Amino acid sequence: MSDVMKQEGFDYSFDPRACESCQGRCCTGESGYIYVTKAEIEKISELLGLSVHNFVSEYLFKKGYKYSIKERKFNDSYECVFYNRESNGCNIYDARPNQCKTFPFWDYYKTRVQELKLECPGIIDEDS
Ligand code: SF4
Ligand code: SF4
Repeated sequence: MSDVMKQEGFDYSFDPRACESCQGRCCTGESGYIYVTKAEIEKISELLGLSVHNFVSEYLFKKGYKYSIKERKFNDSYECVFYNRESNGCNIYDARPNQCKTFPFWDYYKTRVQELKLECPGIIDEDS
């Protein structure tokens, strides 16, 4: 049975087996924004055993009217503060934001498959 994932409206599919050897390229690399909703903030705070106030002040920053998870610098690039380099995983996996759960099926990439392929080795471009 194939583990390859497809989603309606997208011209590519995704093989999650690529994650095993990829070293979290979607959680690391260029600086970006990892947005969290109010409900996600509450869920992550609970998972970490922190008050919402303490979680927000320690791990988030404000970008316009939204909140994003902080990054840390690693060599010449950046990584999400919850990326675990040792396990090649996410320290808040069970409560990770929807933005992370839905990658690589983001509307942004519908017309930018080549850009996505550079970031994510699990992408299978059905047009090529
Ligand atoms: S970039 Fe793609 S292959 Fe790599 S961890 Fe993220 S989803 Fe998996
Ligand atoms: S929250 Fe987890 S899945 Fe999302 S970018 Fe950070 S380490 Fe990656």
